[in-house]
Amino acid sequence: MLKNKTAFITGASRGIGKAIALAMAKNGANIAFTYVSNQTAAVETCEEIRGLGVDAEAFLCDVTDFSQAGETVKAIVARFGKVDILVNNAGITKDGLILTMKEQDFDQVINTNLKGAFHIIKHMSGPFMKQRKGSIINISSVSGLMGNPGQANYSAAKAGLIGLTKTVAKEFAPRGVTCNAIAPGFIETDMTAKLSEKAKVAALEAIPLKRMGSPEDIANVAVFLASDQANYITGEIIKVDGGLYV
Ligand code: NDP
Repeated sequence: MLKNKTAFITGASRGIGKAIALAMAKNGANIAFTYVSNQTAAVETCEEIRGLGVDAEAFLCDVTDFSQAGETVKAIVARFGKVDILVNNAGITKDGLILTMKEQDFDQVINTNLKGAFHIIKHMSGPFMKQRKGSIINISSVSGLMGNPGQANYSAAKAGLIGLTKTVAKEFAPRGVTCNAIAPGFIETDMTAKLSEKAKVAALEAIPLKRMGSPEDIANVAVFLASDQANYITGEIIKVDGGLYV
């Protein structure tokens, strides 16, 4: 579905980003991806992707750093010649009730999950406009749609990402570039592994399909949105949450 395309995925050393990278590679795309701290995981993921017979390269880039994001975009375009698919996936949590949440925990989550996506989109806007084709996929969250106690910072960032998605969809549409978001529910990754047993049991009870999602559940939708089969979809938010937010 993605033969001869190049995908650029932020935060694909682990978790959902890695699953998206592998699924896109299985569909024929060459993969450029970033990581911020876990070089061992990034190198392993890169080897795994190359093992699928496509080109791949990992780039160290903190998406919260505007100029680093710009340098990384330049390096990726130079290395791969073009970017057809951009997936803004890099994200963190710093959970806590508002009563006790530190200001820096609020800022760090907004800077990574929302501003980080803006940085990459801003630097990719030139290449995308010139190319007159491309798909952008932002990984939001059901927390951004329904709110979640203990996640004021995270749900605000993910709701912001939905507003950003809709604006980018409208601004870039005249140039043939689509922009959509995926809003995952509870997905089994390092991010949710740190939740308490009590929180996991409560989450499972609230999910009509009675299971946590897998990173592959998200990757399947990302592949579709990145493919030519989704050419007429833009500004859409697709929930992949086992019915959590119906
Ligand atoms: P993980 O914690 O498993 O992976 C996070 C990834 O983001 C890693 O590759 C990490 O790199 C990278 N990253 C973190 N901070 C930065 C940064 N400042 N700059 C660049 N890369 C960074 O998370 P998930 O796979 O669970 O989550 C992926 C996305 O999906 C996130 O946006 C998350 O909010 C969203 N999501 C996840 C859900 C879930 O239940 N898991 C539910 C809803 C949404 P490194 O390995 O180097 O640390």
